[in-house]
Amino acid sequence: MCGEKMKTVAVIGAGPAGMSAAIAAARNGAKVVVFERNDIAGKKLLLTGNGRCNFTNVDIHADYYSFEEGSVADEVLNSLSSRDICEYFSDLGVLSMERKSGMYPVTGQAGTIQTAFLQAMEQLGIEVIYNACIGEIVCDKEQFEVHMDNKFIYFDAVILACGGKAAPKTGSDGFGYRLARGFGHTVTRTYPVLVQMQSDASGLKQIAGVRCYANVTALVNDSKVATDYGELQLTDYGLSGIPVFHLSRFLSKEAEEGMKCVVSVDFIPQISKDAMDAFIMKRLNDLKGYSLKDFITGLVHNKLADYFLKIRNLDAGYTVVPEDKKMVLELLNAMKDWRFNITGHKGFENAQVTKGGVVLEEIDGNMESKLVKGLFFAGEMVDVDADCGGYNLHWAFASGIKAGETAAK
Ligand SMILES: Cc1cc2nc3c(=O)[nH]c(=O)nc-3n(C[C@H](O)[C@H](O)[C@H](O)COP(=O)(O)OP(=O)(O)OC[C@H]3O[C@@H](n4cnc5c(N)ncnc54)[C@H](O)[C@@H]3O)c2cc1C
Repeated sequence: MCGEKMKTVAVIGAGPAGMSAAIAAARNGAKVVVFERNDIAGKKLLLTGNGRCNFTNVDIHADYYSFEEGSVADEVLNSLSSRDICEYFSDLGVLSMERKSGMYPVTGQAGTIQTAFLQAMEQLGIEVIYNACIGEIVCDKEQFEVHMDNKFIYFDAVILACGGKAAPKTGSDGFGYRLARGFGHTVTRTYPVLVQMQSDASGLKQIAGVRCYANVTALVNDSKVATDYGELQLTDYGLSGIPVFHLSRFLSKEAEEGMKCVVSVDFIPQISKDAMDAFIMKRLNDLKGYSLKDFITGLVHNKLADYFLKIRNLDAGYTVVPEDKKMVLELLNAMKDWRFNITGHKGFENAQVTKGGVVLEEIDGNMESKLVKGLFFAGEMVDVDADCGGYNLHWAFASGIKAGETAAK
């Protein structure tokens, strides 16, 4: 360092954003202390990807995020490609594998990523203070006073990586926003996303537990806003499954704000509307003397078949004849556009991610505050959310590394 004073950096939060920021700052010559309110680091990280940690995606693009292509956040995101992230973990001793374009550690264990981070932090001499919930930081003459247990610890820079409000049992319950507000930053209203949606549709108990592959489309005030295909899970309160998590990014806020929200489900995406006529005529001719239930039995889960017939007041035992084509066509068309009225979401307790947070306009391309020099942000704390598939962790790493590198300089 040749006479240059070593910078001191405090990182608040030992999640993926905080740990990657700490490592980047230490690698760039800073003395780093991480404060974590839990007694372990990366509590949420351990839950990711069903315990397997989908840490990035081969297709990283602004389309999967809440910000615009070409924006400052997009530049931060693209400062690290998915290949860079895989190399980053390879450098920490973790090999990765691809599954449906998502990248995971080959071990299939999120704990591997947590261990790799902890090993790297130890090697770099980063101090991690656990059970340290930081409630106040004061900026005084270009120094930051971090208040912990009636002690003041001084730093040249602070990185806030406290997470959002999703899955609050893991430590990120929105407390960090108070720290951001304390520095004069604006925090937008927050909403849970990548979350199950509630519906007041009748008869849900009858189909609860059914899983099926379907096309799902979100409509807000009758306009189509998002669509996805995947394994839908029907529950007694509404809809779940990865495609519904995807739609929740476009429905949670809107449902809370009282807009008309609907999910249209195509339960038989395998038959196009054009092919429907021919399909029905063949079946009507093949199935002489069979019942309406028999007619749809090979199309959807048995419970769903009973549900559709019941909701549409159709007699399952009725014997169909070729003249019933119109009635059968109507039934199948309804199954291709079955509408669930959405009344809300399942809350932050069940959500994976937070929509909203510290506004991006007050942060520069190095993740540094435009209001307070030496103050940085990383990860879910800021107003960035993304789709399922490793995109949220990619943001946590990209923003964390950017903040750490700059904070050390
Ligand atoms: C069940 C589940 C599965 C998920 N699966 C995936 C997935 O497979 N792929 C993906 O990309 N994303 C996934 N996510 C989202 C991803 O986990 C988050 O986007 C990511 O963890 C955000 O990282 P972060 O470091 O910003 O925040 P967090 O991981 O929330 O970490 C913030 C840390 O800060 C600490 N903290 C907060 N306030 C303070 C304070 N005042 N003082 C000290 N410490 C504090 C918290 O205890 C916490 O440890 C999943 C989320 C959940 C809940």
